[in-house]
Amino acid sequence: MIAIIGGGGAGLMAGGFLSSFGQSVTIFDGNEKCGKKIYITGKGRCNLTNACSAEEYLNNVVRGQKFMMGAIRRFSPQDTIDFFENNGLKTKIERGARVFPLSDKASDVTKTLLKTCKDCNIRLNEKVESVVFDKTTNKFILTTSKCIMHFDKVIVATGGKSYSLTGSTGDGYKFARMFGHNIIKPCGALCAIEIKDKFASSIMGLPLKNVELKCKFDGKRKSLFGEMMFTDKGITGPIVLSMSSFINRSENVELAVDFKPALSEEELETRILRDFSVNQNKNLTYILRGLLPKNFVPVFLNKAGLDGEKKVNSVTASERKIIVSTLKNFELSFSKLYPLDSGIVTSGGVDLKEINPKSMESKLQKGLYFIVEVLDIDCGVFLCKINN
Ligand SMILES: Cc1cc2nc3c(=O)[nH]c(=O)nc-3n(C[C@H](O)[C@H](O)[C@H](O)COP(=O)(O)OP(=O)(O)OC[C@H]3O[C@@H](n4cnc5c(N)ncnc54)[C@H](O)[C@@H]3O)c2cc1C
Repeated sequence: MIAIIGGGGAGLMAGGFLSSFGQSVTIFDGNEKCGKKIYITGKGRCNLTNACSAEEYLNNVVRGQKFMMGAIRRFSPQDTIDFFENNGLKTKIERGARVFPLSDKASDVTKTLLKTCKDCNIRLNEKVESVVFDKTTNKFILTTSKCIMHFDKVIVATGGKSYSLTGSTGDGYKFARMFGHNIIKPCGALCAIEIKDKFASSIMGLPLKNVELKCKFDGKRKSLFGEMMFTDKGITGPIVLSMSSFINRSENVELAVDFKPALSEEELETRILRDFSVNQNKNLTYILRGLLPKNFVPVFLNKAGLDGEKKVNSVTASERKIIVSTLKNFELSFSKLYPLDSGIVTSGGVDLKEINPKSMESKLQKGLYFIVEVLDIDCGVFLCKINN
């Protein structure tokens, strides 16, 4: 008798496999339906996996890469695709090798998973409150919101602590602690970033395309190329969300945007000199509108301390250098990540040192397992190109 706590993607997948091997499986979920989070994944379309090799997949894992190596090599992204296809879900591959259901409906993913769980006893609206191991009977005692039940093995698939309205409220950490597990402080991953600069709200929603977000943290450097945008109090968009996964455990973070990553400082200066020479009677604002989104120009001028009305024929060499260096290194003042609940993924969780990567079994309690987001793993940044 196996209990699975949580009927999200992880719990359903485990339930389907175990029941197909003849195991008696009971899945508990506090919600009125299973897979509530799956419905909102991939903007309602669910990006199932990526059509890539196991190695490529692992290269994009931000935390827990070594821990996941065996699991991903044994069950590769292609195995995930085959699993869904073999269970009747047609899939398609889109830009960035992202795999989606052909129907574009995340709900079809949940339906497919539920189909594999047809032999499981699924108990909805039933929250597990505690898990205790009884040494005299060698059984786990689960106290739920409705009753007390006994099991030989327990799989904790309760998810992380973000998007808590979908049911992932961090209960798995509580159960893990009951068995002496260490919990790495949960924090948001794939999360927007708050900045101290007051101008953000004035250009909220403004997209910056083909820029490079550069970051220094804990003596490391990371830069990501792609698209970002400003929010009421910070920045978001693909490269920002991806960057958050690298910096979410650091206090001292330096952020800067390179608006012209394809050009060196010298090349950019040459380009600006050319612009100046053909527009000698125009002002700086006019020139900068050719280099930046129109609405960003006042913010840029303010940061560079330059007068947008100044005619380009009176711009000095040192002012030109300031323009170049500000375009190549527009500093943003990091404040913190947006709250954990808004993270697409929770980073942190059950300490991987205490889990057997071959079986996901606790090293502290035989018969107790932890799977997927409740663990201290963060698997995935396919949203943009990582430069270093
Ligand atoms: C907006 C958004 C978009 C995303 N898009 C994608 C995407 O396109 N592709 C992708 O791979 N990932 C995506 N993710 C991430 C992905 O959804 C999660 O990583 C994944 O759902 C984790 O699965 P899980 O089963 O571990 O946890 P969850 O899906 O969170 O499931 C945990 C389940 O446990 C239940 N539960 C918790 N505590 C208890 C308890 N005490 N008793 C009973 N039940 C309990 C909850 O009700 C819940 O159903 C996205 C996430 C978000 C928020």
